[in-house]
Amino acid sequence: MKRRTGQDRSVTAKWRPATLAVRGGTARSEWGETSEALFLTSGYAYDCAGDAAARFSGDQQGMTYSRLQNPTVEMLEQRIALLEGAEAGRCMASGMAAMTAALLCQLSAGDHLIAARTMFGSCRWLTDSLLPRFGIEVTIVDGSDTAAWEAAVRPNTKVFFFETPANPTLEIVDLAAVCAIAKAHHVTTVADNAFATSALQRPMSFGADIVAYSATKLMDGQGRVLAGAVCGTSAFVNDLLLPFVRNTGPTLSPFNAWVVLKGLETLDLRVQRQSDNAMEVARFLEGRVSRVLYPGLNSHPQHNLALAQMSAGGTIMSLFVADRAQAHGLLDALELIDISNNIGDSRSLMTHPSSTTHSGLSAEVRESMGITEGMLRLNVGLEDPADLIDDLDRALGSVGL
Ligand SMILES: *Cc1c(COP(=O)(O)O)cnc(C)c1O
Repeated sequence: MKRRTGQDRSVTAKWRPATLAVRGGTARSEWGETSEALFLTSGYAYDCAGDAAARFSGDQQGMTYSRLQNPTVEMLEQRIALLEGAEAGRCMASGMAAMTAALLCQLSAGDHLIAARTMFGSCRWLTDSLLPRFGIEVTIVDGSDTAAWEAAVRPNTKVFFFETPANPTLEIVDLAAVCAIAKAHHVTTVADNAFATSALQRPMSFGADIVAYSATKLMDGQGRVLAGAVCGTSAFVNDLLLPFVRNTGPTLSPFNAWVVLKGLETLDLRVQRQSDNAMEVARFLEGRVSRVLYPGLNSHPQHNLALAQMSAGGTIMSLFVADRAQAHGLLDALELIDISNNIGDSRSLMTHPSSTTHSGLSAEVRESMGITEGMLRLNVGLEDPADLIDDLDRALGSVGL
């Protein structure tokens, strides 16, 4: 029995995002628990052999095995899909499992994919190393150049793949324009929305077909678990994604799903406050270093486009100092902000992309993405921004800035 379920679309359709983040997808067990139950089970028992057969044939609704379904994971899938405004969603073990599944479930040898050049390092490994090994052609374009997407389309183009804002240069893809080009050519768009989340940006409302996530970042939001998600139409999820993930097994653990469910309850609060804090920190840094890239600042080259798509600038920025020595010196002088390559955490974290997250790429690729030796990426957390500014002020001073 499910009491006052958050899964009835006739009810949830009326709910606003903050309500969906707390209650969307909730399915209560016979015990009527208020907090979502954690079903740590790999299998399910049947009342009789006939029920088992009916479950496997699809004649009977229900769970069969946790690689395929799990009640806790299903609650998270429904909540994320509701927040995204998607018909359906599927969770994965990590963001990279989500990206890999979203691409491989729909691409075959002979197909062509166009991807934005500025992306998370492992996403570029998918486009540059993995897909070509299976005969999938890839063209890399400047994602912020809308005309470049159109110009790269071929008769066999199947997918556009991009992040916006992109990691770590905060480059913005014009969602409405690029998705319209894709639609005109019957191409599917896959948007990685990790930097914004549905709290700041809903790519589907601009025409994106698939939204893929690292839920490790802002959705968990407290640096605890790895998770990923892919949202799309019911047809995409049921016909393409499900057969791929059920048989290859990039399944999310119920425990991690439960942690992310708890994280989503405070998504809106955290993202709004962290964006406010980031804005204060970005304004301080702008007066101190040669260059700051933050979508919320007027100085961001695509500031107007960013704010047309996002309700705030987000939690992440990049700043530029002279070189690697100065960047490492600044990191080593920090007392409050941690040296860490994670993002989306409620703690402020800073990393040097060229020697960490993007070190696997060649120097030429890094340069084409705008990742210099003096670039640092900062994730702004929930600490008091005045303490963050004090820490940065002291650390910058110690390297002569
Ligand atoms: C972190 C990240 C990923 C990968 O997610 P994992 O959960 O670490 O596997 C993909 N895309 C972007 C934009 C990211 O920031």
